[in-house]
Amino acid sequence: MIYKTNGILHLNIANFNRMKFVILFLALHSCLVVHSQHQDKVDFIQGKVDIKIDPMTETIAGSVTYKLEVLQKVDSVFLDAQNLNVIEVKLNNKKVKATNNSKRIVVHKRFKANKTYTLDITYAANPKQTVYFLGWKDDLFGNEQVWTQGQGKYTSHWLPSFDDMTEKLEYDLDISFDKTYEVIANGALVATKELDGLKKWSFDMDSPMSSYLLAFAIGDYRKKEVVSSTGVPISLYFYPSDSAMVEPTYRYTTAIFDFLEKEIGVPYPWQNYKEVPVRDFLYAGMENTGTTIFSDSYVMDSIAFVDRNFVNVNAHEMAHQWFGNLVTEVDGSSHWLHEGFATYYALLAEKELFGKEYYYWKLYETANQLKELSNKNMGEALIDPKAGSLTFYEKGAWALHVLRHEIGENDFRQGIQRYLKKYGFKNVTIDNFLKEMEMGTHSDLSAFRNRWLVDKNFPFDEAKTILVRESEDLKTFFELQKDMMTSSKDNESIIKKYWKSTNSDQLKAKITRTYYKSLSQDFIRELLGNESMLVRQALATSIVQLPLDLKYEYESLLNDGSYITKEEMLYKLWINYPNEREKYLNCTKGIIGFSNKNIRILWLTLALLTKDYEPNNTNEYYLELSRYTSPVYTNEVRQGAFQFLEQLIGFSDNNLLDLVDATQHHSWQFRKYARSLLDQLLEKKEYKDRIDRLSVKFNKEELRYISNKLISE
Ligand SMILES: [Zn+2]
Repeated sequence: MIYKTNGILHLNIANFNRMKFVILFLALHSCLVVHSQHQDKVDFIQGKVDIKIDPMTETIAGSVTYKLEVLQKVDSVFLDAQNLNVIEVKLNNKKVKATNNSKRIVVHKRFKANKTYTLDITYAANPKQTVYFLGWKDDLFGNEQVWTQGQGKYTSHWLPSFDDMTEKLEYDLDISFDKTYEVIANGALVATKELDGLKKWSFDMDSPMSSYLLAFAIGDYRKKEVVSSTGVPISLYFYPSDSAMVEPTYRYTTAIFDFLEKEIGVPYPWQNYKEVPVRDFLYAGMENTGTTIFSDSYVMDSIAFVDRNFVNVNAHEMAHQWFGNLVTEVDGSSHWLHEGFATYYALLAEKELFGKEYYYWKLYETANQLKELSNKNMGEALIDPKAGSLTFYEKGAWALHVLRHEIGENDFRQGIQRYLKKYGFKNVTIDNFLKEMEMGTHSDLSAFRNRWLVDKNFPFDEAKTILVRESEDLKTFFELQKDMMTSSKDNESIIKKYWKSTNSDQLKAKITRTYYKSLSQDFIRELLGNESMLVRQALATSIVQLPLDLKYEYESLLNDGSYITKEEMLYKLWINYPNEREKYLNCTKGIIGFSNKNIRILWLTLALLTKDYEPNNTNEYYLELSRYTSPVYTNEVRQGAFQFLEQLIGFSDNNLLDLVDATQHHSWQFRKYARSLLDQLLEKKEYKDRIDRLSVKFNKEELRYISNKLISE
């Protein structure tokens, strides 16, 4: 049974989705604090890994051969190994005694100085994290995936390796798997071989790296091959059903690659580059050496490209191939050298593609966020290993923008090149970096260091001065702001004066979003008719009440080439003009929207809420919406469906089972959402009884999680 109400929706999926996107965006990676545990008397040179993955049991059977040089005599060496089952350890081909405390494998033996040893470990893993198995237990065909997320020290969950980022070695990976899938890993694929119904993919790397950057991704993939202007092969992976999305998703990939090589001035350090989308990824993207894994919510069509594209994340992960992978922080106190740099170089790439003002608007946006953080007394120093992502990423990028200006373009680039060449394939601290930048320029960067890296507060006034000096748009915007504040009347004439003086769509969109309440209907009509999509989108997202006089103009926005605009207008038109609901639903029927199905989920909800809308299809629409909570859909789709069903219709037994399933999801954000929703439901007796009755269908983990909640009163 479905209850229909004609009341106002209590949540706006548009805002909800955008907020979620921002969260995803800010959470590019976890920030990490790794405590040094270096074995400085031993140097590991090479690791040859051979693993066989069984997705049905979620286990890995593996062996690894390490070559190590002993610099000073020691009586033991160790490897980090989280809950690995060690089967055999051999030193120089002879069985040797080793202890395994579920965290480390320690080999006890007198190792002699200046000698090279070979250490073989045969092991089995049943990783509870770091390796993720998706889609192997459902009835769908083709959605099966296995992939890793190893930052900052998690590779030891599937391979005896080094949680310490300062241990860099050359890795070669052999992976055996069902031959019908594609196996992707770091390095160059040098051979494949079929054996016992499995296929073995052999990857070779020729330069050393930290263990956390080891990665593989397995699934049903096709690829598009492109080449950088310097001849580096780039493989762009996609799901077979997404071939039409390859162009918009990967738009500008080679342009970004070429730009970064030229801008940084040091050749791309690895043999090849691959980009692989995966489902329900934990972050937006991860820069594994030569093999970026990213969230398939960035796989998109050309309309979505206009609203939110992969360009920034694409450039960010690519920039990490130098900043993070080639030169790696010693520990978390130098995390700026990874995230600040990747964010800054991604911004530079966007500046190259979208223009100077685009770059400054982004800097202005982050300056505002950082100012807010400082104002709340929550400002963080860039040298603080516990700082949050806003600090590491955005304050970090600001610091580099300022540094480049302070020492000059030329010296900045030369300093960066000196730094990368000197510390390539090694580890660095912030002070190592600053020293390289000071050298050659003979400038003293201690004032810069204190202001931008040590001080917790964000120097907003300095940032604003820079923006006024360098950006025409922002200079104009600040002047307008001042005029608006000091004038007592006729705000629109002030706005019009500035409007006429600029051709910048970004500035106009910003003015619209900031001052839409001051705009007359006549002026808005003009904007809806003549201005760019960006301005129309700013109106669509800002305006709440739609006056009858502008009904026709607002309706035309349903056809705009932006999913954000379409979604906003469908919702707002439906609310504002109740008599026309059928018309709005008819003309947006079948639009899916972003990969989170934002428009489709909203549409189904509105269709169900609209009295007498296609009564014969009501049940079908309900079933479709209800189905979206199922684990065969991505987190974003599931969360959208839960949210709307909860607000409007309530949950079926299947939805409840899906929710319980979601409380065990590998993505902590989604798991947290599901757990809090479940807690809310359990407060209601009706739901508690139903969930209790359903508990016979729970699996072991679900039961363990819920049984306490069901008992407690
Ligand atoms: Zn990053």
